[in-house]
Amino acid sequence: MSRVLIIGAGGVSSVVVKKCAMLPEYFSEIHLASRTVSKCEKLQEEAGKDRVVGVYSVDADNVPELVELINKVKPSLVINVALPYQDLTIMDACLETGVHYLDTANYEPKDEAKFQYSWQWAYQDRFKEAGLMALLGSGFDPGVTNVYTAYAAKHYFDEIHYLDIVDCNGGDHGQAFATNFNPEINIREITQRGKYWENGEWHETDPISVRKDLDYPGVGVRASYLLFHEELESLVKHFPTLKRARFWMTFGDAYLNHLRVLEGIGMTSIEPIDYNGQKIAPLEFLKAVLPNPGSLAEGYEGKTCIGTYITGMKDGKEKTIFIYNNCDHAVCYEEVGAQAVSYTTGVPAMIGAMLMLENIWMKPGVWNMEQFDPDPMMERLNQYGLPWQVVENIESPFTR
Ligand code: NDP
Repeated sequence: MSRVLIIGAGGVSSVVVKKCAMLPEYFSEIHLASRTVSKCEKLQEEAGKDRVVGVYSVDADNVPELVELINKVKPSLVINVALPYQDLTIMDACLETGVHYLDTANYEPKDEAKFQYSWQWAYQDRFKEAGLMALLGSGFDPGVTNVYTAYAAKHYFDEIHYLDIVDCNGGDHGQAFATNFNPEINIREITQRGKYWENGEWHETDPISVRKDLDYPGVGVRASYLLFHEELESLVKHFPTLKRARFWMTFGDAYLNHLRVLEGIGMTSIEPIDYNGQKIAPLEFLKAVLPNPGSLAEGYEGKTCIGTYITGMKDGKEKTIFIYNNCDHAVCYEEVGAQAVSYTTGVPAMIGAMLMLENIWMKPGVWNMEQFDPDPMMERLNQYGLPWQVVENIESPFTR
């Protein structure tokens, strides 16, 4: 029985729901729950009532509510595509009801913009003892970038030393300023101090202060900025031979100018202020006035290019490879009515769920993507819409 309960009904969920709906042989029954049930109903309409058989309103911050819902639906797996704030409550509910768990982003407390795996890794023994599995970060980055790294380590190197994950959105949605996934989570992430791993320790940088112009296949040269991204934490743990690990993301000048102005006037702050007798966090208010990322999909042009540069040793010689995917916004819209950022997250979430349900990636405990054999995921990425390329023996664009 492969009944799944998907929690969250935003941009990423719309892709997960539709991709799962296309594969009844793996996902026999889909149930969908979120805070706003009308969003679930809309997705149900689009994916088909025969495939999304139940929709529910749930507050995923509330464990008893989640437990009641999970007991009612009795899924084999909960796919969490709500927000990172809900990771721990949904994991608690999965433990209480005996159900496997998958998400696409690691936990972060709402009142502090600080994401790290320690909170979820702390569930390792409880999941193991319960015979349950939690798969963490089954999106693109984190997710596919972890799998690319594991694939490189398995097939191309004896030892990996330098890792640079690069994330380019070369698309144009025609809006003055918008984020491609949940604005609150996105802005919290990029306004944090940068951080990278080198020679056994973390080094910090000022936010968006280190720039490198990189040439992305299928897109061209784009300004890329060093950020901290959550997969760095698990990758340096699971690949201790890494001497350096960094993450880069592209931003255009217009985006950065808007962001600097918004930051300058305090609109990105998560500290609640008093407004007409009501406490309101400026960033939450900003989210309410920014375009909903899902609404950017129609007319979005151009491609994303996300990949990993890896340098290491093979047969006593140093070499560099680049593994990447190009994803076209318009092609995603044509297939599932979504833009490429939702698509590149939703497809790996669907594949991660498929691998768990098929017992291909299934072991009790709490795991990151690179801890499994990468080959089954790599095969399915080609099959289900995110084909990848490996460019071998290139000169690394990064200096030591
Ligand atoms: P959206 O904001 O579009 O959707 C989030 C959904 O979660 C909404 O339907 C929202 O409901 C629901 N939700 C929020 N809080 C609750 C709650 N307390 N109870 C129930 N439902 C709730 O976000 P995205 O789809 O853009 O992102 C989804 C997840 O994917 C995020 O965790 C994000 O960090 C992650 N992500 C991962 C990436 C990767 O590559 N790994 C890349 C991009 C995103 P409502 O609409 O009612 O507010």
